[in-house]
Amino acid sequence: MQPVPRVLFSRCLGFEACRYNGEIIRDDFVERLKGFVQPVTVCPEVEIGLGVPRPPIKIVYLEGEIRLIQPATGLDLTARMQEFVNSFLDRLGAVDGFVLKSRSPSCGTRDVKAYNEEGNIYPAFTRRGFFGGAVLTRFGNLPVEDEGRLRNFLIRESFLCRLFALARFRQLRAEPSPGALVEFHTRHKLLLLAFSPDGLRQLGRIVADAGRRPVPAVLTEYEPVFSRTLSRPPKYTNAINVLLHALGYFKEKLSSGEKAFFLDTIDAFRRGRLPLSVPVSLLRSWIVRFGEPYLEKQVFFQPYPEALADIADSGKGRDR
Ligand code: SF4
Repeated sequence: MQPVPRVLFSRCLGFEACRYNGEIIRDDFVERLKGFVQPVTVCPEVEIGLGVPRPPIKIVYLEGEIRLIQPATGLDLTARMQEFVNSFLDRLGAVDGFVLKSRSPSCGTRDVKAYNEEGNIYPAFTRRGFFGGAVLTRFGNLPVEDEGRLRNFLIRESFLCRLFALARFRQLRAEPSPGALVEFHTRHKLLLLAFSPDGLRQLGRIVADAGRRPVPAVLTEYEPVFSRTLSRPPKYTNAINVLLHALGYFKEKLSSGEKAFFLDTIDAFRRGRLPLSVPVSLLRSWIVRFGEPYLEKQVFFQPYPEALADIADSGKGRDR
């Protein structure tokens, strides 16, 4: 059973036509993701009282300060937006991740254009939007992405792995016990190994110490390391190590032809000719066939719902 992550979305990403020009953004991945999460939505610009449609707002350097300005009306919305952002994020409650609108002066998390008083772009001063920036500051341990970056295969893969892993961790926090932590850590071992062997070692040390301290304190130490370990797309060499490690469980059970075929598949993955899902599917078929209990419970083989898997890529996601 996969958990249901609670995810905050920019409302214009397929939820409501609330953009400055009255439009809505349709994004294939966001549309699919909605069916597997508990969505929470916000449109900061509407929340501070701007209508739909509305004259666009911009980030402007005014007298040495960064301000949020509506040039058509001359309104300075900085204080109103900051007040809303703080009170909204204070009341947000538990979330597992964010999908925000790219490049918006409100929701953007990077590459937002900034202007000078004359209305010219400062190319060297692209920055975060007012809402997106506050999210990154407060929720740096969670996956925060925009719909543009999520078109990149590796970023999307990493986002999904982390999102669902953190939702599982939230379940663990709801009913904590030393045994549940050990079980959680054990189930995530191969996934963590694929992302970062160092992170896995660090988390292993925290779990080994779990019996000597109150579980909530151990979980508080475990969570940021867990989230950070899953924060960067895994190196393909780590994934290959996991595949070879898993193959070891079937060494005596497979024919030499099956093993050779599997190694060829790994080689094709290494050279970027096949996605990771191909050797993973082969391993899954052997787990079903031979009923290997340790591998059966490994999240690595299905870190998020299969229906969200998609090898579509913006073109940069397969760079290694
Ligand atoms: S980017 Fe953010 S502020 Fe702008 S329309 Fe979308 S949800 Fe509203």
